[in-house]
Amino acid sequence: MALPLTDNLFLDYLRCHRRAFLELYGDREDRDAPGDYIQKIIADSSHNRATVLSQFDYQQVEYERGDWEAGAATTLALMEQGEPIIYRGVLISTAPYDHPLVATPDLLIRVPGRSRWGDWQYESAQIKLGRRPKLEYQLTSTWQTWILEDVQDATPENCLLYLRDRDPFNVLWEERLFQLEEMLDDFVTMALEEIEPEVFIARSRCSLCSWQSFCHEVAVEQKHLSLLPGVTPKRYSFLQELGLTTLDSLREAEPATLAALPGFGPHVAEELLDQAYSTWSDTALAPTQIPKPPPLEAPIELYFDIEAEPDLGVLFLHGVLEVNHRKGTETFHAFVAEQPEDEERNWNDFLDFVCNVHPTAPIYHFCSYEADSMGKLGAKYGTDPAITQALVERFVDVHWWVTQLVTMPVESYALKHIARWIGFEWRDTSANGALAIFWYLAWLKEGDRSFLNQVIEYNEDDCRATYVVKAWLADFVWGVQRKEVG
Ligand code: SF4
Repeated sequence: MALPLTDNLFLDYLRCHRRAFLELYGDREDRDAPGDYIQKIIADSSHNRATVLSQFDYQQVEYERGDWEAGAATTLALMEQGEPIIYRGVLISTAPYDHPLVATPDLLIRVPGRSRWGDWQYESAQIKLGRRPKLEYQLTSTWQTWILEDVQDATPENCLLYLRDRDPFNVLWEERLFQLEEMLDDFVTMALEEIEPEVFIARSRCSLCSWQSFCHEVAVEQKHLSLLPGVTPKRYSFLQELGLTTLDSLREAEPATLAALPGFGPHVAEELLDQAYSTWSDTALAPTQIPKPPPLEAPIELYFDIEAEPDLGVLFLHGVLEVNHRKGTETFHAFVAEQPEDEERNWNDFLDFVCNVHPTAPIYHFCSYEADSMGKLGAKYGTDPAITQALVERFVDVHWWVTQLVTMPVESYALKHIARWIGFEWRDTSANGALAIFWYLAWLKEGDRSFLNQVIEYNEDDCRATYVVKAWLADFVWGVQRKEVG
């Protein structure tokens, strides 16, 4: 069989063109092994699938992995005999490219109507873990129904998406067909002519991709501009038109040339040029005008970070590093809701510590999440708004101050990148927010305290990293030296 182009490959293409290419032509050895978080997603996906399937009495199509022709033959036989529900069917059509396009709908559901076999036809359904009918899901569902139409010689009325904890979503597939056809030519050409799409590191989409390490290495080797904060795919396309595709060329570009690009303007142009210079020279750039600082020195300082589990809607850990300059000590306090129902008690314990034990200490955190969460928790548990308001007024967002004042030779202004550039390292170098959620859920499920301890250690390191970044900023911008403690 000629190289089959499947709906799953098309889904990869919709997420990132390069990902589909690497799935076809990349070396499997270059893929990252699935980490704990990816394994959790896989497990959640299987569980969700089993939940949906439990409402059906279905016939499963059995075939050897990748043997699409065998799968399609079995599926066709089942459809021909009018099987009510078919699970893991395979449909193949060679129209319109004279090349096999493969659809693997999770379910084929028999409904009344005319088809090539008689007084019945089928509709296709996909089962997805997401809760929203994302465009990528709708387009792959459209692909499946479009091929189904060809195979059964009848137009399905419905095209269903089973999403997590939602009623089935009916994709208006005939309206999506135009969009699908527009993309298909490029997809098929890329796949059949082996055209390798350029690497472009975009954290939101690359972070869950198994080619991440490989692509990052390629990007570093190429000094690719996608590693420069502020270079989005859209901005990159305008830079490409000017031939500004390398760090050197961008660094030497005229500010007015950049500012004239659509959506840039003088401010973006200046930021990009500073960023290019900072990265090229591997130096941080200070602001030309030094503003009045936030509180930089206090006898006692608190460094604060929250961990949350969004699906359960629980903020389960308030980590606070207490730096006592008077005593020369650093003490970490972990306020933990060991069970989700402990959230209120935990919130009150935290409030008692920051409002009664240390009522005036500045509270440093990184990004707005911590400050935003105070109002939400206060409203949820009936805390006097004056208390949460007074608390938030003591907050200092270190991320805000860094991004307002300095340009650093980092790939992103996330805490990890900034703190690592300064020289800080997490005890568990692979830990991240997604893993923290995984560990908390593992603790809830298995009761193994080592999982909870991993989250606490990670949270403590986030607090310590915030401390390191704040101390570096205070010194770099205002010349305030960090006092040694501990
Ligand atoms: S790591 Fe990023 S650029 Fe590479 S294939 Fe995956 S999504 Fe695409």
